Amino acid sequence: TLPNLPLLSALSSHPPSKVAVIHNSSRKVFDYGSLLRDISRWRSVLRKLGSDATGKRIAIMGENSYQFLVCLLAATSIPGTIAVPLCPSHTAPEITYQLNDSDCCAIVTTNRFKEKLAALVDGRDFIVYEDVELPPSEAVTIAKDPSDAEETSGIILYTSGTSGNPKGVVITNSTLHAQASSLIKAWEIAPRDTILHTLPLHHIHGILNALLVPLFVGATVVFQFPFAAGPVLSLLAHEDANAPEITVYTAVPTVYARLSTLYRSLPSDRQVSITDAIPKSLHLAMCGSAALPDPLRDGWAQLSGGHPQLLERYGMTEVGMALSQPLKENERMSGSVGKPLPGVYARLVDKDSLEVLYQAVGWQSEEWIAKKPEGDEQLLGEIELSGPTIFKDYWRKPEATANSFVTEASSGRKWFRTGDIAGVDSAGRWWIKGRESMDIIKSGGEKLSALEIEREILSVDGIAECAVVGLPSAEWGQAVATVVVMQSNVEPITYEFLKAELKKRLAGYKIPKELKVVEQIPRNQMGKVNKKTLVKQVWPEKF
Ligand code: ATP
Ligand code: MG
Repeated sequence: TLPNLPLLSALSSHPPSKVAVIHNSSRKVFDYGSLLRDISRWRSVLRKLGSDATGKRIAIMGENSYQFLVCLLAATSIPGTIAVPLCPSHTAPEITYQLNDSDCCAIVTTNRFKEKLAALVDGRDFIVYEDVELPPSEAVTIAKDPSDAEETSGIILYTSGTSGNPKGVVITNSTLHAQASSLIKAWEIAPRDTILHTLPLHHIHGILNALLVPLFVGATVVFQFPFAAGPVLSLLAHEDANAPEITVYTAVPTVYARLSTLYRSLPSDRQVSITDAIPKSLHLAMCGSAALPDPLRDGWAQLSGGHPQLLERYGMTEVGMALSQPLKENERMSGSVGKPLPGVYARLVDKDSLEVLYQAVGWQSEEWIAKKPEGDEQLLGEIELSGPTIFKDYWRKPEATANSFVTEASSGRKWFRTGDIAGVDSAGRWWIKGRESMDIIKSGGEKLSALEIEREILSVDGIAECAVVGLPSAEWGQAVATVVVMQSNVEPITYEFLKAELKKRLAGYKIPKELKVVEQIPRNQMGKVNKKTLVKQVWPEKF
């Protein structure tokens, strides 16, 4: 008998012979019936670990696989147990930090990562998936009474560490359920869907959007691990008739960039056949975790022949997904991340006066508190979020938790301060301007969005990547500067050339006052740039 948790009862309601997971490389197939039985068998193994009566954390590191999934769901089904997914490509110090910070009593892994982790065990229980002798496989039933594991169990995911040390975010089973339900409704994910999963599993995008969402509805998840542009492009175009036919894909901007680069290098007859094939099976392609610049959107449009268009959404480890473009392609607007998702409370707060300017409840209501903008105008402020999809605390960081919530006096409602700045236009659409701490540049009395300037720089021919930053300046407060990486085999641009190009697209005060061309911009696992470290590397004399 498994506890009555929303995900487990959903799994048990899907036809047992329906395919839940496919390993694309080996073409191994796992159905919902065996998934449920294996969760139950692993649950009895993981229950015996640790001795902490008040609850325990179990770290899990695996390839993107059925094995990882079974261990994850088994751990989160035990009352008081929290699973901590670890990133296989993290370094030993990063892994040690997370094991210690989350205070894990055990590590579960697969043969592939056995050696990597053996040195970091440090007295914890250490279990290798392939070596475990499991109890016999038995028919599984779901208990009738609700389980307290809904609130006491779940996962800890570490934030990407883009702006500082990663923080452990506690996401309970009930929060995951609320997050998944909202996405299923908004994106109409259905049992007929086959979703291609190439994302890391230690991050909300890979756990929620690409994994739990399809499992809740009884769709099929195809793992292609590790990510490589070749097999992914081939899968999306269904070039191999024996491979599964993909209907939904979700990835980060850098992945779409790599797919486009590969596509452009292909002979034209193969390009034509890919562009012809993709729209026939794929009906939803989504992008998020970082801003999606226009050239990447256009690159994908060329590859897919215009359909499906990329759907951009905005989310965070702490909140799951919060804002999304609409499903209907003709209602999307490039550069905007759309509106709050179902059940998400979102408001825009002025950073200086702390006044609420605008408030919306996803798919329910919109309310202008400040004067409604006209034409192209937007109200500007920090995004604050509330509702059942929002996390409750950072793991053992009561101060950080307290500092990141504000309580609304009239209703007692707690709002999470995202630290992200957005604009809201007259149609109630949200436009992400970036992080207050890294992307909002205060120059000559103006607040500039680095993301907006980056979009324009990336439209200049020959530029592959860029990061816009603010440098300390006696004259301006902060001076806009940019680091760029050229496309391969393209000569570095000069500052004069960049300035002349940007003059056509940007107001003078937004044009960078300095340019550095570099070989590479360091990015973390999710393809994001820590600008605080970047500026110190590129302009050490200024910091
Ligand atoms: P840390 O909190 O450790 O600095 P992080 O914020 O990058 O790392 P995540 O939770 O993975 O960790 O990322 C959430 C952030 O990603 C958001 O706060 C936002 O700044 C950015 N983001 C997500 N989606 C988008 C988007 N569509 N456009 C622009 N930025 C986005
Ligand atoms: Mg963050």
